[in-house]
Amino acid sequence: MDTSTTPVVEDPAVGTTVLPKVTAPFERSAEERVNWRASIPFLMVHVIAVAGTLAFGITLKALVLFVVLVWGRTFFITAGYHRYFAHRAYKTNRAFQLFLAVGGAMCVQKGPLWWAGHHRNHHRYSDTEVDIHSPLRGFWWSHVGWILCDKYKDTPTDKIRDFAKYPEIRFVERHDGMFPWVLGVASFLIAGWSGLFFGFFLGTVVLWHNTFLVNSLAHVMGRRRYVTDDTSRNSLLIAVTTLGEGWHNNHHYYQSSARNGFFWWELDVTWYILKALSWVGIVKDLKVPTQEILQSNRIADGNFDVGMYKAHWAKAQAYVAHARVDDRIAALSATADDAGEGLAADRDALDLAIETQKVAIDELLHRTIEPAEELARVAKRSQKQFPVIDR
Ligand SMILES: [Zn+2]
Ligand SMILES: [Zn+2]
Repeated sequence: MDTSTTPVVEDPAVGTTVLPKVTAPFERSAEERVNWRASIPFLMVHVIAVAGTLAFGITLKALVLFVVLVWGRTFFITAGYHRYFAHRAYKTNRAFQLFLAVGGAMCVQKGPLWWAGHHRNHHRYSDTEVDIHSPLRGFWWSHVGWILCDKYKDTPTDKIRDFAKYPEIRFVERHDGMFPWVLGVASFLIAGWSGLFFGFFLGTVVLWHNTFLVNSLAHVMGRRRYVTDDTSRNSLLIAVTTLGEGWHNNHHYYQSSARNGFFWWELDVTWYILKALSWVGIVKDLKVPTQEILQSNRIADGNFDVGMYKAHWAKAQAYVAHARVDDRIAALSATADDAGEGLAADRDALDLAIETQKVAIDELLHRTIEPAEELARVAKRSQKQFPVIDR
């Protein structure tokens, strides 16, 4: 459990007790530790990017290259790895499918099968104990830690059989490390050392963290429009930097949509490009939510927000489990000792009473989740029976 800040509670009987603030209620297993040795290349790219940029500066050509390599490649992640490979939000031909896979591999985020397979798992188990990169397991873990541990380095092939059947996609997956090298050499040939260090290396670092923001910040910062079973949010800021992926609550609500900005004012550059590609026949059958889906399950209409409820209760449970009751016992015991032998004899009984209370509260919290979920189901059902009239 991550306990970063420490609120203080005043108790006139005992004095001051320091209580931990729970920021990551779901604990990680022993296998889920960052492998620092294996992460050296990842960390070195950061160092090389900054040091090389400082040494060789930023030329105009390299600046253009940087912009293209950050946001041009972001498109391959958002439209390719994410909306196509993970969610099948539209259809395309086999040549463009391969183009999306190769473009994605240039982003240095492993192959399309690894990326999309793990992402499908995220949607299946969003913000539960088994969600690989929920911020409820720690913010930095959700941002980058999960990528740097050994446990998730393999491709979850069983989750992505629909694309693993294509030999050319398997080829890209097997040789994913080759494509960034090609891009690095090309960057040097186009814009020299500045192109290599600023354009390619720093561009890759920015691209990485820009992508990772969707797993970390988009579950923490922003507003929730729809009831979902998780903590996903909508954020204009993240939508701007990620070409439309910041409408993450919309996306968790209706995952198979090719459009994440559901309304005209929700900027979604990936969607605009996909729409344009559909006009020339490169992509087709772009999935979008119906009007009924758009107007249903809105939190503003009074629907019960089960996702946030569960997240808060998970924190409450962890808080109870880890509250420093021992400190209070010690303080009370010291008081008892001071008061004399008679009071000290009660110490064991006091220990037991506190421990029993702790277990009882823990169980109570567990049980509270069930009726809350039932309540959410009822709310959803009644929503269908009495559809909300658009105001
Ligand atoms: Zn998510
Ligand atoms: Zn997704």
